[in-house]
Amino acid sequence: MKKKIIFPLLVLLLILCACAEDKSFFKDGALANQETTAADLEAEKRWEELEEFLEMIVQEEIKTQKFYLYGSEPGYEKVPATNLGYLPFYTNEDLGIIEEIVPLSNTLVRPGKTREQTKYIVIHNTGMASPVMTASRLSRSLHNSTRQASWHFTVDDHEIYQQLLLDEIGWHAGSPEGNNYGIGIEMAVYQGIDMNMAMRRTAKLVAWLLLEYGLEIKDVKRHYDFSGKNCPQVLLEAGRWEEFLRLVEIELHGQKNFPDAEFVWETLSPEIMDDEGKILSSAASSVRYRVTISLDGKKRSYEFGSLIKMMI
Ligand SMILES: [Zn+2]
Repeated sequence: MKKKIIFPLLVLLLILCACAEDKSFFKDGALANQETTAADLEAEKRWEELEEFLEMIVQEEIKTQKFYLYGSEPGYEKVPATNLGYLPFYTNEDLGIIEEIVPLSNTLVRPGKTREQTKYIVIHNTGMASPVMTASRLSRSLHNSTRQASWHFTVDDHEIYQQLLLDEIGWHAGSPEGNNYGIGIEMAVYQGIDMNMAMRRTAKLVAWLLLEYGLEIKDVKRHYDFSGKNCPQVLLEAGRWEEFLRLVEIELHGQKNFPDAEFVWETLSPEIMDDEGKILSSAASSVRYRVTISLDGKKRSYEFGSLIKMMI
């Protein structure tokens, strides 16, 4: 179904390009021109790979759903929220990690041990749903914490903070295996958060870490996998863990294969979707958008459309 919608334009484009290559090859016939043609074909292969990458990002349907945040604070035990839907418009923008490394003097948070091997990226989300419990607030609170609990990064819809050095052991997974071999990431899920953007930002960070440590998607774990704790609860209760892994796959594919390409996304339905792929109104039933990619001094634009579907 998806291919039917996406590919007529791409196929036409590729056919036109293929014809152009053949024509110049047979017309001139000289060795130099054959080499030029081979290089051009190689360049065209890169564009084909980019078009396959776009197929990962673009979806026929954008789903909107209700879900909940969970908090330990009185009045915030179960906070209703809405996922208005999105497409993970990939760009190669920098992670923008803000370093707030906890002082070594806080030995409860920083046990001062080096991790010998990195085998996992462990995902958590906070159980504090009041509107003030942002990543910024949580990161700062760790500095004076008197609990033996720590993790490496805190992420929300706006920012990424780092609290421990990358190769340092933290206390977050509830098991020696998870703590000794895992990098911990805490998603700060406060009331009012754009959960989709928090998931996308976390996925970008996770993909970067997977590349840094030569790990794979299977190495991305839930806190639950090590201790059975219902964490990351917001993602698990909403049935969004697989969706999160798909976001990591997209980021991994982009960061690994196209670090030299620039992606500029542009909504063609500005009242319904913004340029980051975020749906602004669930009242509409469809959107259109464009991506312009720059690669090796060349630019190509592609236009797509998706349906918007309310799940609940
Ligand atoms: Zn956890």
